[in-house]
Amino acid sequence: MALIDTLLNYWLAAPWPIALAIAFIANTSAYLLSAYAIDQLSAALTARGLIEWLDNCALKPRQKQQEMKHGIVACAIFATLSLLTREVYTSVWPNSLTELILQVITFVIFYETYSYFIHRLLHTKRLIKIHAVHHRSVRTTPWSAYSVHPIEAALIGITAPLFMYLLPMSIGVAFVLHFSGMMFTIFLHGNISLRGVNRPIKLVNNAPLDHSKHHQLGNKNFGFVNALWDNLMQTNYPHRK
Ligand SMILES: [Zn+2]
Ligand SMILES: [Zn+2]
Repeated sequence: MALIDTLLNYWLAAPWPIALAIAFIANTSAYLLSAYAIDQLSAALTARGLIEWLDNCALKPRQKQQEMKHGIVACAIFATLSLLTREVYTSVWPNSLTELILQVITFVIFYETYSYFIHRLLHTKRLIKIHAVHHRSVRTTPWSAYSVHPIEAALIGITAPLFMYLLPMSIGVAFVLHFSGMMFTIFLHGNISLRGVNRPIKLVNNAPLDHSKHHQLGNKNFGFVNALWDNLMQTNYPHRK
């Protein structure tokens, strides 16, 4: 934590070109290293029969390379927009545990609501061209996570600055949530399913299964973190009903 604190304070005080370069390196490294690790690990574990692929259809030619290219552009956009958080953060860390819990809960609710409705908007006739970049990946890979059009990357990257403009949020919490969210999104697109049907395993498998169905079939399962809005708006596929 002390290292994150030192890095954050340096980043907050740095001139913007330096802060931008640091944010770009941090986002790109987190994306590339996590996607590579999950890609390698899932290939090794499926080969040994320990986990299984959710979707077995063939990858498109050069799919991973294309996804990676879009992902790196998305990281550059996230880095640029992260500079806005330097203008609107309220503190480096929360002053109490209650404050920390409140910030995390309100942000997760905000994120899931914002991303559900933005995702539905992106599936409308006018905007589907933008979102089509992400849907080129029918069988998803960890690299698909940020394989998005630059406009969609901007809609994702603006989430934290927008939230921090509206409600109090510490930059340290935003930092941890952003990078945890990145890992989660990469896992969500990993196309993997743990073997077994007990409750904890089902809980781990549900989100990737829902999102894989979204990539295979389109127009339903718009949620990311959970199926709350899909259940409320009845936009989930029957396997979750
Ligand atoms: Zn979609
Ligand atoms: Zn996706």
